[in-house]
Amino acid sequence: MNVEKNVPATRPRVMSGMRPTGRLHLGHLIGTLTNWVRLSETSDAFFEVADLHAFTTGFERPEAIREAREDVVLDWIAAGLDPERSVFFLQSAIPEISELHVILSMITPVAWLQRVPTYKDQIEALGGEIATYGFLGYPLLQLCDIAVFRADTVPVGKDQLSHLEFGREVVRRFNNLYGETLVEPQALLSEFPAVPGTDGRKMSKSYGNAIEIADDEATTTKKVRSYITDPLKIRRNDPGRPEICPVFALHHLSNAARVPEIREACASGALGCVSCKTELAETLNAYLRPARERRAAIDRTRIAQILHDGNERAREVANATMRDVKRALHLID
Ligand code: SF4
Repeated sequence: MNVEKNVPATRPRVMSGMRPTGRLHLGHLIGTLTNWVRLSETSDAFFEVADLHAFTTGFERPEAIREAREDVVLDWIAAGLDPERSVFFLQSAIPEISELHVILSMITPVAWLQRVPTYKDQIEALGGEIATYGFLGYPLLQLCDIAVFRADTVPVGKDQLSHLEFGREVVRRFNNLYGETLVEPQALLSEFPAVPGTDGRKMSKSYGNAIEIADDEATTTKKVRSYITDPLKIRRNDPGRPEICPVFALHHLSNAARVPEIREACASGALGCVSCKTELAETLNAYLRPARERRAAIDRTRIAQILHDGNERAREVANATMRDVKRALHLID
């Protein structure tokens, strides 16, 4: 990757990140991480451990954020990302991001932030519990993560499109005021099948319903056994409704070839939930085995070095952008 010169990349420059809030799970692997691996093969990719963003909701537990940083990197490598090929860095180690945040906050109308739908939704969902300045400014800090690297491509889900649109508006405002300096990032819409957790809701660390990449096989099997199924299938031979069963949804992910037979056997009552789950546990463990083996093979002491190297590469690019930003603002010659 050519990050030495802050010239427009000949390949797309991709930027994405994750908040270190705990170990990653099957939902991350099937959705985001598999996509990142693909993108890292054809782009100059910057992957951020967004530890400052983690303070938005986790500011009372800084030790937990610190601890989770390492797990995130381990899980990225387990998923097949290569820190030699892509830049892994820590948000808090790139002060240029925070610097750009201060500068852009001067030209960002508060109303633009207040109308980002996720802000309104979260305020309603949390009953106003997160009422900090940082929470309101979250999409602006996200833009700075992207803009400081002049990334032109950002993989996003539909629910995050509004964040990116807001960010593009801020970039346009900056460029109109001070001349073409920042790159307007484009969304790369990336939609994935929702991965259900043990309770049938979307798999999420905060719901306590996740199968983690780092789980061992016995733990995975135990979690698969605890999955809710069709509540009307009480006895083994009762006909089931696979279309409403999260176990069946997971068969699509790790056992696709058997899906038609399982559908039929469940619906006719020939297949019991215990056997169905046993088969799922086996296929899921087989699916996760390569990632788990890669994870187990990583020497944890290497993580600090990986982040140190990535931080240096990232800072070089960020620093060059900030020189241009400051020149545009007449802060430096
Ligand atoms: S047999 Fe399988 S798909 Fe059918 S309800 Fe039971 S666990 Fe779900």
